[in-house]
This record gives sequence, C-alpha cells and structure tokens, in this order.
Amino acid sequence: MPHTLPSLPYAFDALEPHIDARTMEIHHGKHHAAYVANLNKALEATGSAGLTELEIVRLLRNLKEVPEAQRTAVRNNGGGHYNHSLFWMSLAPRGGGRPTGPLAKAIETTFGSFEAFQTKFEEAAMGRFGSGWAWLTYGTDGTIAVGSTPNQDNPIIEATGTPLLGLDVWEHAYYLQYQNRRAEYVKAFWSLVDWSEIGRRYATCKA
Ligand code: MN
Repeated sequence: MPHTLPSLPYAFDALEPHIDARTMEIHHGKHHAAYVANLNKALEATGSAGLTELEIVRLLRNLKEVPEAQRTAVRNNGGGHYNHSLFWMSLAPRGGGRPTGPLAKAIETTFGSFEAFQTKFEEAAMGRFGSGWAWLTYGTDGTIAVGSTPNQDNPIIEATGTPLLGLDVWEHAYYLQYQNRRAEYVKAFWSLVDWSEIGRRYATCKA
C-alpha cells in the first residue's frame, strides 16, 4: 500500500494536560488510520498505478487527474492523511512560546504582533462552522495569511499556498476532554505548538 500511517513522534500521553491520551490514541489510531486506509482503497479503485504512487502533496495538487468516481474520496481521505501528518509534527510536549527569526518577523509585519496573529487564528478556528481546520498559510504570492477550510480540505487543495500550521477543529479532536468547549481547546493548542518546526517550514517555503 503506497500510503502508510506515520507513527506519532511522542507518546499518546505526552501532550497532557492539553490533549488527553485517549483522544490522541483514537485520533491517530482510528481516525487518521481510517483516512489512510480509505485513501489507499480509493486509489486502488482508480486502477491507475501512476495515481497510486503519487506523493501526497502532488496528489492533492492534481485532484482533477483523479477519475470523478473516486475524486471525492481521494480529496477527503487524502486531505485527512496530509492534514493529520502535518498536525502531529506541529505539536510538541514542550511546545508553546512564540516563533523566532524570520517567521516571527513575518508574523509581526503581517498581523502587527504575535498576539494579533493569535486572535485572528482563534477567530478562524472558532468561526469554522462544523468540521474543518484553521490555518497559517504561506501563500502563492509569498505572504503569510490566516484562514480556514471545511472538512479535510487545506490550502494545497484550494491552491492558495502551503500550510505552515494547522489546527484540527473537528469534534473528534477535542470532544472527549473538552466536550463542546472548542474555545478552551483552541487556547490549549498554543501550549503545544512546536514553533521551531513551523519556522523550518517557513524557511523551506521561502528558499
Ligand atoms: Mn482529526
């Protein structure tokens, strides 16, 4: 099978108290695993070896090449696989704080301050009705922006740029611990963001 579930770079309970172990176990082992399995199934159904072997970012950039019968399944599950893979790597047990270097500068220039960026990002996360993601994106024009997408869409699928940081606001990401209190989960997220990793992504986009 071409796409595989990446292992978590930390233990299930490593993000406590901000995200509980049971949520991580189900989120990674059931939800993310299902996106991978269903993506592989949909790709197999296309009968195209070329599509099946395509790297995930290139696949999401070329969804129009996927036969219509499988396109929605590839979009939803391929998006889900990419988004969650990025999400796990964006978090760290001793995360939090703030970005440094060129990313810190870009955030200040674009939003006025790190706090103003956080407010905008939280608004995107809270304003997404139903399931989806909030994003900090490196745009196709070289600027950074905050936005949100529904379902398992992302800036690659929408062709607006490359995701630097994403927050999963599906209820499955927080319901066990926070129930309906999405705002508390969004606040807790700031204690987990691995800004050195996000800064590396920004540097890669700029290069
Ligand atoms: Mn999720």
